[in-house]
Amino acid sequence: MAVPQKTDTIAAVATPPGIGGIGIIRISGSGALPVLRRIFQPHRQDLQDYQTHRLYYGCAVDHTGRVLDEILAVYMRGPATYTREDVVELHSHGSWLVLQSILKEVFAAGARPAEPGEFTKRAFLAGRIDLTRAEAVIDLLQAKTEGGVRLAVGQLQGRLEDALAPVQASLMHLLALMEVAIDFPDDDVEIMDTGHQRQQLQKEVIVPLRGLLRLADQGKIIREGVHVVIAGRPNVGKSSLLNCLLREERALVTSIPGTTRDTIEEMISIHGIPVHLIDTAGIHEQEDIVEELGIERARQKMREADLVLFLLDAKRGFTDQDRELYRLIKDRKHLLVYNKIDLVDDEYLNKVEKALGGVSSMRLSTLTHQGLETLQEAIYQIIINGRQVEEQASCAPNLRHKVILAETLQACARIDQALSMRVPADLLAVELQMALDCLSDIVGLTTPEDVLEKIFAEFCIGK
Ligand code: GDP
Repeated sequence: MAVPQKTDTIAAVATPPGIGGIGIIRISGSGALPVLRRIFQPHRQDLQDYQTHRLYYGCAVDHTGRVLDEILAVYMRGPATYTREDVVELHSHGSWLVLQSILKEVFAAGARPAEPGEFTKRAFLAGRIDLTRAEAVIDLLQAKTEGGVRLAVGQLQGRLEDALAPVQASLMHLLALMEVAIDFPDDDVEIMDTGHQRQQLQKEVIVPLRGLLRLADQGKIIREGVHVVIAGRPNVGKSSLLNCLLREERALVTSIPGTTRDTIEEMISIHGIPVHLIDTAGIHEQEDIVEELGIERARQKMREADLVLFLLDAKRGFTDQDRELYRLIKDRKHLLVYNKIDLVDDEYLNKVEKALGGVSSMRLSTLTHQGLETLQEAIYQIIINGRQVEEQASCAPNLRHKVILAETLQACARIDQALSMRVPADLLAVELQMALDCLSDIVGLTTPEDVLEKIFAEFCIGK
């Protein structure tokens, strides 16, 4: 792995903007210790030198010696640091003004402002972490639910790399065989047992790669979540449903402003999967539901939805207005939900359902919460589409990995075909090398600079 090209010293505030108890400035590079010496006055005046990884109490001062804040400072000698360079952290009070005034002195003392993700990029360039782990740091910072965090932590621990290691080893083994076959063409028969090699390729490379590709879809759901639209006539209980789902998940709720004024969007987590709930209440406030604009907006929301919850008022049954609206929904993935079952008895509902011609539906009361858990479970099952969200999801590839894995699979299909056609070993070796190069792009061994730039640009400054 390459040695970091930039040896200049970078600095940034590493804690989020806003008022916090403490704020941290991170400095990395060969100038970190000289910067510390310039801007920090340790409490112990007889201090000779800073020991690595020890916290010192003192003051941050400007060039005139004026005290900016009382702080704690730590010097961490490379390579036992995040970037493998010398790192200094200054822990001041969390005021943005204080942090900026100290940062200004840090820059005056020789550091320069860090670019977004530059600390993590340096860690990557120094070989401290591979690219999948760098990406995991972004995912971890952006995770919306505990499921997202689990996934990111799994990736941070190198799960994807671990899953790929045997695949790589198997391809390398095949490549070694080809090289032997090239060097000793007379032993051709024994080395080139192509039937066996095709079996190995299938079992040790193609099947695991396909499995990882399938996990990528799960990973997307866990990272980004799904969109569930709550639709129905006015007064069937859409807002009540949204509110009671939110109350259930209070600790995990994040508010996201609706994209249009007609909809309210909130996020809940169902078994760790972010579910964006969209209440289309505003759309149906129009007097006439068949009004064109309203219909178009409703259609748009339905199109974007992974699932539509179609709410009906149990007491009123399936009305003509419901039927009108249902025409928009029935071709989409949806759940029919009779709300307000506290107002009717089972017998009545059975009759209503029968009249619908056996379309399956769920029963709910947002008032008593009867049926709420079953509804949540049904939403979850539809989201995961009958698949098990297994433990293995912790190594789920992201979109970049997915593209590379698909390319590797294509290369493997060519290798398989070449083996079946008994193509000469030197040509096979070329294909095998290509497949291996593809895979090493995942961990970033051969990733082009522009791809790296794009990945690290997703970080915020200070990470
Ligand atoms: P929306 O227009 O579809 O969003 O409907 P709302 O959520 O505003 O509910 C309309 C009315 O129905 C309100 O007065 C609610 O209190 C009532 N409501 C909603 N859900 C239930 C329920 O399960 N049982 C009963 N009895 N009333 C409900």
